[in-house]
Amino acid sequence: MDISLIQAQVESEIQNLNSLEALEALRVKYLGRKGLVTELTGKIATLPQGERAGFGQQVNALKSKVLSLLEEKRPTLGGQSSKAQIRPCDIGMPGIAHELGHLHILTQVTEEICAIFNRMGFSVVEGPEVETEFNNFTGLNIPLDHPSRDAFDTFYLKSPLDKLGAGKSKEKLLLRSHTSPVQIRVMSSRKPPFAVVVPGRVYRPDAVDASHSFMFNQIEGFMVDKGIRFSDLKGVLEEFAKAVFGNDIKMRFRPHFFPFTEPSAEVDISCIICAGHRSQGDQQKRCSVCGGKGWLEILGSGMIHPNVFKNVGIDPKKYTGFAFGMGVERIAMLKYGINDIRLFFENDLRFLKQF
Ligand SMILES: [Zn+2]
Repeated sequence: MDISLIQAQVESEIQNLNSLEALEALRVKYLGRKGLVTELTGKIATLPQGERAGFGQQVNALKSKVLSLLEEKRPTLGGQSSKAQIRPCDIGMPGIAHELGHLHILTQVTEEICAIFNRMGFSVVEGPEVETEFNNFTGLNIPLDHPSRDAFDTFYLKSPLDKLGAGKSKEKLLLRSHTSPVQIRVMSSRKPPFAVVVPGRVYRPDAVDASHSFMFNQIEGFMVDKGIRFSDLKGVLEEFAKAVFGNDIKMRFRPHFFPFTEPSAEVDISCIICAGHRSQGDQQKRCSVCGGKGWLEILGSGMIHPNVFKNVGIDPKKYTGFAFGMGVERIAMLKYGINDIRLFFENDLRFLKQF
């Protein structure tokens, strides 16, 4: 049988193929168990000794030629090359990069703020989100009937003792409405001097809008020692504000009322967008961040009220101290020009990826 003739026949048959089924039929016709090439392979052993080697080589060459022709044709008919099936993984190809996550912007800002106070000698203390009425209100000089209690109103919880039918427990439990209860916890368990910052989540029954949320993050700070003065408070807060917003900002203290500090002040920085250049005239020309006022409120502060010291057993004649509190969302919004507090909590990666 003329092997070169068979090869020519295979070549022409393959060229005319138009489906994967026909290709498979052709493979069986030549390479199948009863195929032509297989038949030829079987003949090798029947040949005289001297002819076997030469004929064997020719048959092998034909076999690999048919295989490679089939291999070339398969992809043109929409099939997958068997080589690709054998080697599904090309180790030379670049891999698929796994995206790494990162800290949420509020965690980043919280850590940045705590680090600034850390450098000034403050230690970080955390407290529980479920608090007693005493720690959240009464201990902080906010008595039951005081109108300022409304500003710090919160969510009350049913005491587990009520559930057990053990009668009304004396102490009502609630979700803390500020981080200040940790002041009570620290001051009643440690001896001055101390300087502490307290990051954490707080709760208020506020309707959600662009600037309010029923849950937000606060950082509280306080320092107690003999001879702590208002000027110490000013120095610490100025250092903080410049570290966050840059050395060019100016600060001002506005008298205010907080039940747990006396005297109390709200602290403003010069607007980071218009740099405090007051713009008057029509609405459109006014700075949209400060509303043309030139100042941005960043936190509340004051000297710790003597009543608070008395409530935790610290002698207000011997010790003085200051305290301040800020909203982490507010600081982040000012620092990065974010205009809606809801963006922090919606888990929209298009927003979160930017920070
Ligand atoms: Zn402005």
